Amino acid sequence: MSEKYSDDINLDTEECQSVVTHIFEYLDSEMTSEDAEKMRHHVAQCSPCLAELSIDDMIKKVLKRSCSQKAPDHLRVRIHAQFTTMRIVEE
Ligand SMILES: [Zn+2]
Repeated sequence: MSEKYSDDINLDTEECQSVVTHIFEYLDSEMTSEDAEKMRHHVAQCSPCLAELSIDDMIKKVLKRSCSQKAPDHLRVRIHAQFTTMRIVEE
């Protein structure tokens, strides 16, 4: 018995990398509905990706408000780490 979706908590699979790479397209609704559907399907059964999506969604919302509200330092660090991760994934 090989359980593909057991307690895997790394982002090493191709699908996870694809989620991380396209996460902002998804949040900005810039994907085709087919791709967005694939994304939703994967995230629904992959908790690391779900967490990733929640963080990015939150960052997006905070950044939208940041003209009137200063983003906390720990958030900026997260955003920075996020972009670094995305760059690595894209290479
Ligand atoms: Zn995943």
